[in-house]
Amino acid sequence: MDLLIVGSGFFGLTVAERAARVLGKKVTVIERRSHLGGNAYSETDPETGIEVHRYGAHLFHTSNKKVWDYVNQFTQFTDYQHRVYSTYRGEVYPLPINLGTINQFFRSALGPDAAREMIAEQAAEIASDQVTNLEERAISLIGRPLYEAFIRDYTAKQWQTPVTDLPPEIISRLPVRYTYNNRYFNDTYEGLPVDGYTAWLERMVDHPLIEVRLDTDYFDADQPLSKERVRGQVPVVYTGPLDRYFDFCHGRLGWRTLDFEREVLPTGDFQGTSVMNYADAQTPYTRIHEFRHFHPERTDYPGDKTVIMREYSRFADLDDEPYYPVNTTADREKLEQYRALATREATQGVVFGGRLGTYQYLDMHMAIGAALSTFENKVTPLFT
Ligand code: FAD
Ligand code: UDP
Repeated sequence: MDLLIVGSGFFGLTVAERAARVLGKKVTVIERRSHLGGNAYSETDPETGIEVHRYGAHLFHTSNKKVWDYVNQFTQFTDYQHRVYSTYRGEVYPLPINLGTINQFFRSALGPDAAREMIAEQAAEIASDQVTNLEERAISLIGRPLYEAFIRDYTAKQWQTPVTDLPPEIISRLPVRYTYNNRYFNDTYEGLPVDGYTAWLERMVDHPLIEVRLDTDYFDADQPLSKERVRGQVPVVYTGPLDRYFDFCHGRLGWRTLDFEREVLPTGDFQGTSVMNYADAQTPYTRIHEFRHFHPERTDYPGDKTVIMREYSRFADLDDEPYYPVNTTADREKLEQYRALATREATQGVVFGGRLGTYQYLDMHMAIGAALSTFENKVTPLFT
């Protein structure tokens, strides 16, 4: 073995694929879970035959041509375009906030200019250069009424942290539009893998120089490729949690985890769309996914059954899956210390990457893009 990859998410598999294909290196990927693919993994629901994303809905979108060309080697994409709706006080509105949302909410028929003017008046209570937290950023973008309806309680449920303690950047992910365009993403390329995420992920490592070992934890001293045995002996790309690698010596980084409640219902269509958000504080879940709507082109899905998943959000304990970095000021201080340690591990041939290994919210295209750069800038030099 020339290279060990810890973790089989998109980051790890991209580096594995490049090291085998481009450099001709023998690569072993170890994965703690009993399947490959990290959080992008999907499976066929046994009762309905519908593809379910086990760790929450995954929508692929990117404007990065290099990433788009790379991923198209392994899968074709459907022409799926993501749209999200939000239920607020018993009424359904389109997201992201657009002219349709604004006119429905204010019972108006404003054109773009008039709507912009009205929202600017409502947003004027906070100047954009005085923004210090998520609440202020949201109000300065869309005004208080829309913020209180669609953002405040949803965000509080999702992050379980006072909105005034959250960084403004979180909300910058959501566009606000003065047209009726309600596509969720602004990216150039968007779609879902024609034959599912798992087929795509498996094709990435379908190479004679790549071996994948499942149910294998890097920190399990009893297995032959453990940290104790391998560190300093062979180059390692580590994509597990950064704080865990250093035995939490600077304390634990904050993560949010999710609980998913899966249910099969005796109807061909439960909600008429793939994702419905719930903006009210009283509804305990943040959203409901109905997976059949991700693949309207599939003709083999049953007409009398559907599978839905309610999503609940909470802080992660040590035993929980870490999903989203919370990134408070205290987290960022610890992160600096861990990053300094990670830089020093380079002398042992260890490269850190991915969502968990860098404590960053990375979409799939970002994880793949970062892996392609890491391969070129950090992994290739290890062999030259
Ligand atoms: P991961 O997929 O987390 O892979 C890391 C792997 O390392 C895991 O399989 C883990 O089991 C393994 N591992 C950890 N520790 C060890 C150890 N000690 N030994 C062995 N293996 C270990 N992105 C989008 O582009 N669109 C979306 O719609 C989208 N939705 C998302 C929804 C949710 C709920 C979540 C959590 C993420 C979503 N993402 C989405 C982000 C996407 O999942 C990530 O970009 C992608 O998974 C990153 O890949 P990764 O390899 O960095 O990490
Ligand atoms: N958000 C919100 N209301 C919604 C949808 C999103 O307030 O109905 C906010 C929330 O703070 C969330 C952020 O916008 O964390 C980003 O939303 P996105 O849908 O991109 O989040 P993700 O899919 O990553 O959970």
